Amino acid sequence: MPPPLSRDKPILGIDLGTTNTCVAHVRNRIPRVVPTDKGSLILPSVVALSSRGDFLVGGAAKDQLLTNPRNTIYGAKRLIGRKFNSRVVQDLRSYYSYDIVEGPQGEAAVSLGDRVYGLPEISGMVLAHVKKIAEAFLGRPMPQAIISVPAYYNDNQRHAVKEAGRLAGFDVKRIVNEPTAAALAYGFNRGLDQRVLVYDLGGGTCDISVLQLQQNVFEVLATGGDTFLGGVDFDNRIIDWALDQFWREHKVDLAQSPIALQRVKKAAEAAKIDLSLIPNTVIDLPFVEERRGKPLDLRMPISRQQLEEITRDLVDRSFTLCDEVLEQKGISRGSIDEIILVGGQSRMPLVQQRIREHFGKPPRKGVHPDECVALGAALLGDSLDSIDSVTLVDVLSMPIGIAAPNDRMRRVLEKNQPIPATRSFRLPPPREPGKPIEIDIYQGDSDQIVDDEFLGSLRLPAAATGRRIDLKLDEECLLRVTFDDPERGMVEVPFATRDTPEALRRAIAEKTPPPGAAGAAPREQRRGIFGWLTRS
Ligand code: ADP
Ligand code: MG
Repeated sequence: MPPPLSRDKPILGIDLGTTNTCVAHVRNRIPRVVPTDKGSLILPSVVALSSRGDFLVGGAAKDQLLTNPRNTIYGAKRLIGRKFNSRVVQDLRSYYSYDIVEGPQGEAAVSLGDRVYGLPEISGMVLAHVKKIAEAFLGRPMPQAIISVPAYYNDNQRHAVKEAGRLAGFDVKRIVNEPTAAALAYGFNRGLDQRVLVYDLGGGTCDISVLQLQQNVFEVLATGGDTFLGGVDFDNRIIDWALDQFWREHKVDLAQSPIALQRVKKAAEAAKIDLSLIPNTVIDLPFVEERRGKPLDLRMPISRQQLEEITRDLVDRSFTLCDEVLEQKGISRGSIDEIILVGGQSRMPLVQQRIREHFGKPPRKGVHPDECVALGAALLGDSLDSIDSVTLVDVLSMPIGIAAPNDRMRRVLEKNQPIPATRSFRLPPPREPGKPIEIDIYQGDSDQIVDDEFLGSLRLPAAATGRRIDLKLDEECLLRVTFDDPERGMVEVPFATRDTPEALRRAIAEKTPPPGAAGAAPREQRRGIFGWLTRS
């Protein structure tokens, strides 16, 4: 490839989404999305192993889900950086159509063909694919990247995404929070002094954040949302509606046929997307099933109004979430200057109408919901080390603390703590004097450590008793620990993140019902939220 001629930096901004991945690059100071090899601007975040033993990424992988569900990995973003024994992963195991297994370090991993793959490897394949596409499109190597992650990602998840980037051959310059990237796409170099709310309704999650923009300082004030509310829930409403109708008409349950169901899913999503543009459409699936040798067609007109009726409560929920996030910091609706819509599902006209009703103003036009996160990441990449660089002030989305007696968490860093930040604590006297001390660090909203994510263990010399220990979060929200050594001053403590403590494994094993067990029942209502799975 020829050497670069312009001042453009060889850095990509990547929105590695649960559903779709989008890549952008700044050329002559203007950020642009890189189209995929199929001409589209977004690439499904799906990796598959074909029956011929080839890896497929993107649309090709998504297309074979129907015929090869066990070897098609989607929704990796929900699994990456999580422990196999964590509650989320155990829940997902019963929903996903591929095998989620335990990796060598106790992390969630997936089984494809006859091998186990780590999630960083899987996401790494998506990233390597977009790297290749971008390099072909831009005509030069793209060795660097800024990758966005959800604001609520914990330390393990952030590290795992960085690792995915490294495996894809990137030097990952930074991890940036998605809402911050979206705000950058809106406000970078515009000299604004505004408070904005980022409403991100993607394929599987609803993320709400409030930011204060002042010149090029982007400060997150509050963040929250629901990790199980997204476009797939809207699809499922249409699917349930269509299956009910079909049952009433033909007394045939299409849910029993994986192939028919997959076709209905695809058509339901397409109808939903049509209805964002036009008031009426038809779900039309010729020969979807057969009964006594006779073909049955599914042909159902559906209107925007009908769609709104069956999904109104989902949209309502997203606005309850907005209010909850505002309440965290006592922010009034009226003080929000602009609302930025992010995520494909925010294109639904009902969402836009409800924004106007709820906030008394329309959402900001000119920020593209599919592209703005990648564009903002690219802008950040371009501005690194330059004079007009930006300052990002983020907050910690979930508390971080240490294990205390009775399996409780003692919080050290609180939710919504602006970062970078350092908080200190002192060690209680050891149970066995003279022995090295071990402390487990957790992150999560619960006071019970079983419900939180284990971040790692610290091993400290006995001399650490009573000495100061600092938990430091850097601007990427990555955690470092230092301790006040009597002889050497503040020294970094090796932070063993990879081995889950045996005690926690046991505690989780006792408290987490196996998938499908009676204890998991309340979550059954979420059946199919991940979209792709076959209903059982
Ligand atoms: P993620 O952040 O999870 O990767 P995206 O932001 O790409 O997801 O959003 C994907 C979701 O948006 C899917 O559920 C898709 O059906 C939905 N979607 C895309 N376009 C539209 C549209 N025009 N109207 C309604 N929903 C849409
Ligand atoms: Mg997204």
